[in-house]
Amino acid sequence: MSLTRETIAALPKVLLHDHLDGGLRPATIIELAAQVDHQLPATEPEALGEWFVAAADSGSLERYLETFEHTIAVMQTTDALARVAREAVVDLAADGVVYAELRYAPEQHQRHGLTLQQVVDAVHAGIAEGKAEAARAGHTIEAGTLLSAMRQNDRADEIAELTLANRDRGAVGFDIAGPEDGFPPSRQRTAFQTLREANFPYTIHAGEAAGPESIWEALQLCGALRLGHGVRIIEDIELGPAGDAAGAGTQATFGRLASWVLDRQVPLEVCPCSNLQTGIAASVANHPISTLWHLGFAVTINTDNRLMSGTSMSREMELLVTEAGWTLDDLEEATLLAAWNSFAPHHIKQQIVTRQVEPGFAAARA
Ligand SMILES: [Zn+2]
Repeated sequence: MSLTRETIAALPKVLLHDHLDGGLRPATIIELAAQVDHQLPATEPEALGEWFVAAADSGSLERYLETFEHTIAVMQTTDALARVAREAVVDLAADGVVYAELRYAPEQHQRHGLTLQQVVDAVHAGIAEGKAEAARAGHTIEAGTLLSAMRQNDRADEIAELTLANRDRGAVGFDIAGPEDGFPPSRQRTAFQTLREANFPYTIHAGEAAGPESIWEALQLCGALRLGHGVRIIEDIELGPAGDAAGAGTQATFGRLASWVLDRQVPLEVCPCSNLQTGIAASVANHPISTLWHLGFAVTINTDNRLMSGTSMSREMELLVTEAGWTLDDLEEATLLAAWNSFAPHHIKQQIVTRQVEPGFAAARA
């Protein structure tokens, strides 16, 4: 069977790594910017969307992060936060996403005086509205939030406490985001300790702008349950000669860290299109995701920043199929891995798998 764009669009999808401040609709940014008198580089939705992608294409993570100045600037009121969260859920549901973990850093939304708790409440209210709106359009979606602490701001202890205070009110996990290079995970060790002692899960952005050392810290010093990106684990693997099975296969030699990540099946939240913009790979065809996948790593497929990358879950999957030879079986296996490694309660994961993912893929084969 051929995997058409329509087939892929209809597949049930599970998304673990998507930034709320990286997924706004261009038209919404324009409307919100007008309300707060924020100057944008373009004032028509299509041109603005293109500007975001072009600016993020520059090749450095630092420059990529600059694009967030505009999205963050318009996300400073409870109304704006709720709207952005609502639209994100609606857009993901329309793309076939049945479970999503949306992440954002509450500390970035305090420029107009909101408390951290007001920020969290607004986002959760928006998500609830989004789920209801999606249901009215015939889409079932479950969504939770990951609260991120910005690595450079040193507020992780405070954000960890905030996350715990909201653990039964929509916050399902914790994360650190922002510049990885120069801000190793161990800087926030006490926050991770607090969360671990409270039996609360977290992922860590590691192995994107920095290499295996950062991944090692995230796992062995900080106890991350998943890795945001994590793709630079490839640097701890000596690949076999070209032409070997799966470009690596039987002749790959694993370093101790890569063995740990593979043997423990540490989930990797891989975001192919985002990595093209930050220079990790030149194309999806030669992105390390496929090598890692064929070597048996617990790869999941994610969007990171839909606005900056001009992407969606369907697009990420379609590029893996058309450029890297991924099959429907591959997509299903990666989706199941994402579902089972989400931070949702076990009974919710079971529901997502048995009521959505398995029947959805079965329907695609029918
Ligand atoms: Zn990210």
